[in-house]
Amino acid sequence: MPKKYHINTKATPLNFDYVYKFKIVRGENCINCGKCTKVCIYEAHKRRKDDPRKMADPNTVVCRNCFRCIQECPRGALEKSIDKDYANVGGAFWKPDMLISLWKQAEDGAVPVSGAGYRGPFTGPGFDSMWTDMSEIVRPTRDGIHGREYINTAVELGRKLNHLTFNTAGELVSKVPDTVILPIPIIYDIPITNLSPNVKEALLKATAAINTCIVVSAAAITPEVEKYSSNIIPHIMPEEVDKYAPVIKKARLVAIEYSDELLSSFPVLKEQIKKISQALIIIRVPAVKNVEDIVARLTHNGAEIIHIIADYRGREINSPAGTGGRLLKDIIRSVHARLVEDCIRDEITIIASGGIAMAENVPKAMLCGADLTAIDIPLMVALGVRIYEEPEKLLIWPEGLDKISAATITQRIVNLTGAWHSQILEMMGAMGIREARRLRGESGRAIFFEETDRDTFGKLFRNEKK
Ligand code: SF4
Ligand code: SF4
Repeated sequence: MPKKYHINTKATPLNFDYVYKFKIVRGENCINCGKCTKVCIYEAHKRRKDDPRKMADPNTVVCRNCFRCIQECPRGALEKSIDKDYANVGGAFWKPDMLISLWKQAEDGAVPVSGAGYRGPFTGPGFDSMWTDMSEIVRPTRDGIHGREYINTAVELGRKLNHLTFNTAGELVSKVPDTVILPIPIIYDIPITNLSPNVKEALLKATAAINTCIVVSAAAITPEVEKYSSNIIPHIMPEEVDKYAPVIKKARLVAIEYSDELLSSFPVLKEQIKKISQALIIIRVPAVKNVEDIVARLTHNGAEIIHIIADYRGREINSPAGTGGRLLKDIIRSVHARLVEDCIRDEITIIASGGIAMAENVPKAMLCGADLTAIDIPLMVALGVRIYEEPEKLLIWPEGLDKISAATITQRIVNLTGAWHSQILEMMGAMGIREARRLRGESGRAIFFEETDRDTFGKLFRNEKK
């Protein structure tokens, strides 16, 4: 049995101006008795390093809102109040709670625990209207992240054969296509061109530590980053193949931007790239209205991997602001159904991205029909970025990030990915699924609110209308 894949997480705080739900503040009447340091098991209260007689400012980012310190402070010196920024940050999709959860996961790499139970709604748009079948959770053999059984999160990228052909002597005559195996169904897809050198370096180091891949514009692949070649997916335009031939030569995967001409010219382009390297080709297709047709046509034409990219709210590209356009969940299901209908599902690997915001979105996207996912904004949030959706998308990078050591930033990205990996293991363990690749298209292991609602109340309301 191969060694278990493990991500080494380590508490790595960043002293930035985070947004909290409840900000914890120590008042002037504190007598520095230190009782709060003893009652808070999350170590939100510490003494000042430069003067241990005094208390440091509380570290709200690790606070789990249990209110114990507030109840036990002999002077009533601690106060928790709604942070005024909480209501403004994020938007209809990137809810403030999501950002806080991602910050915490980057901070400690742990599975998020609210400590007060879940009090939110049980359905919502997109992946929130989908529940996974966790019937195996009651089995004593369930291990999740605790490790008695082997749960494999690896996924394989590339074309697979529908069937094998043997000659009369029993020898295999089918040519088995090359594939690339990644230990986790997540790749990074964050534009690194405008990032400070320490953040760039950290992203590459974290990618190598996780042993996944990152999409990088070919123009940004300088000699200093070539040591990460096996983890870098060079991103090029179809007409740039010759220009970036040396980069393509060293890559395992190469990403090509989609254009309508590729629908007919892809076989020629594939031939051109295969003469340079054995790299598998990813075609980056925007999640537009007719994405199913595009994916099916490219697959019939020999495409190996297609990356479907929705917008940052997980909606169809160019959909109107607000709630217009299909959501990633529905787009993936529709693409998967079309490929199954055309009997070509196994011939293509589907990467889904856009609105993959929380760990549970990864297995849910796979249950809808994706083979793996790509993430961008969660990586930025791990570095302290704030996102605002209204009146338009705005990302605010924390001041001073360019002064933070690459090692610290690397660990925060590793932490976030480690927390997600643990949650994927938990979900798979609870579902009784031991191989991540078996999640793909297993929509029978999920319950979709819209369908249940229609099946339960559809007839009733149809009758009412008559
Ligand atoms: S328990 Fe209250 S008084 Fe004592 S150190 Fe903490 S905040 Fe100050
Ligand atoms: S509310 Fe609870 S978790 Fe938060 S600082 Fe106080 S004791 Fe710690």
